[in-house]
Amino acid sequence: MPLASNEEIRKLPWLIPHFANEEGRLKMSIHSLVVETPARRIVVDTGLGNDKEGRRVPTWNNRAGPFLETMTAAGFPPESIDTVLCTHLHVDHVGWNTMLVGDKWVPTFPKARYLMGRVEFRHWREQHGRDDMAAVFADSVKPVHDAGLVDLVETNHRITNEISLIPTLGHTPGHVSVRISSQGEEALITGDFMHHPIQFHDPGFSISADVDTNAAIATRRRVFAEYADTPTLIIGTHFAGPTAGKLVRDGDRYRLHV
Ligand SMILES: [Zn+2]
Repeated sequence: MPLASNEEIRKLPWLIPHFANEEGRLKMSIHSLVVETPARRIVVDTGLGNDKEGRRVPTWNNRAGPFLETMTAAGFPPESIDTVLCTHLHVDHVGWNTMLVGDKWVPTFPKARYLMGRVEFRHWREQHGRDDMAAVFADSVKPVHDAGLVDLVETNHRITNEISLIPTLGHTPGHVSVRISSQGEEALITGDFMHHPIQFHDPGFSISADVDTNAAIATRRRVFAEYADTPTLIIGTHFAGPTAGKLVRDGDRYRLHV
């Protein structure tokens, strides 16, 4: 996030210690979220995956993490998952869609429908500009599509009575966030329309992976204004530490209250 200097970050004590360290370095996380409803068991985004190759970030190649063991130990074995939702089709959101068995990529969640945005899917299928992105599509998206497990959905798709998608475009052309309404309470899973709580302070802070920077900034401004000072729990797809909090106004800025 080039515009967020260490000096700027240190001026924002509410970021420390959860979202930045004392030196002003930002902390982030790559994780999956599981949403359980009376009808469905939904994994939102699937991280980096194991055994993947051709990734631009060196440490994202040939990983051998205990993701599935951890999920199983938490009570969510892969075969119990009936829905996988990809907020978008970037490398750190589709990795565990598949796993390597022998020399083949097979769906990690064999009993799940994989929900992907129609626009998003088409964009990445037709994108041949960068080898690393083509590799992601080939090993983490195409195999589940070929297995007949993908449902292409619109950006305002409703999954259950409690869970629906909302379009939050800019980071990618078909990006969605996830609205949860349950027993009188509300939550929003961000996906990557934002990456770090410092963007509440300045929605103009962008990361280089935003496909359309101006649209991404406009989306952040719109969503922040809509959710500020509401009881909605904001659950960050890349927020470190406590991962979730309430969005509050702070003068002419916003911050996350955890
Ligand atoms: Zn991401």
